[in-house]
Amino acid sequence: MDGYSFEIITGPMSCGKTEELLRRIRRCIIAKKKVKVISPDVDTRSKGDYIESRNGLWLDAIKVKHSIEILSRVKDAEVIAIDELQFFDSNIVKVISQLMNEGKKIIGTGLELDFKAEPFGSMPELMCIATKVDKLHAVCMKCGCEHATRTQRLIDGKPADKNSPLIMIGGDETYEARCIKCYELPDVKGRSKALGLKLLQFNK
Ligand SMILES: [Zn+2]
Repeated sequence: MDGYSFEIITGPMSCGKTEELLRRIRRCIIAKKKVKVISPDVDTRSKGDYIESRNGLWLDAIKVKHSIEILSRVKDAEVIAIDELQFFDSNIVKVISQLMNEGKKIIGTGLELDFKAEPFGSMPELMCIATKVDKLHAVCMKCGCEHATRTQRLIDGKPADKNSPLIMIGGDETYEARCIKCYELPDVKGRSKALGLKLLQFNK
């Protein structure tokens, strides 16, 4: 056993997090480590018991509803890969701490910000206890620059306001990567303003 480590790969949608996770897992498999892959049961992107990157690579995964279940599913594993960390309940911080105490290597991915550009789930705490954090950027779908750090929510092609319901019925909902200049979060009345840079100003 090499001692514990906890690597996080984070960034907005479409920045290649799962692709990078799969690359690191394959290296562990080549090194003949016992690897288990975990994915939250709420992830709607992959329907079966596997994780898949947008370029079509995939690996078998164990679907888990409550983070506490991870402990019993990875007992014989040396390396544990966890996709979509932001979707797990808050026990995920204790679960990963315990796995680190047991000397395991954990590699996880997660969106650090939700569509409102607010910290997503337990990602802040997880990034604090991680031994390594890699922030990947995506290509901005609006201006084409390579510094997209935000995930833009669009409903029927228009930027979603911050009070839009978490689950949309009827409307055509999509997400795309945007840079801080192109990211938009309209107020409830639908007045579209780019809040990306404003969020960084001090309160008056
Ligand atoms: Zn842009």
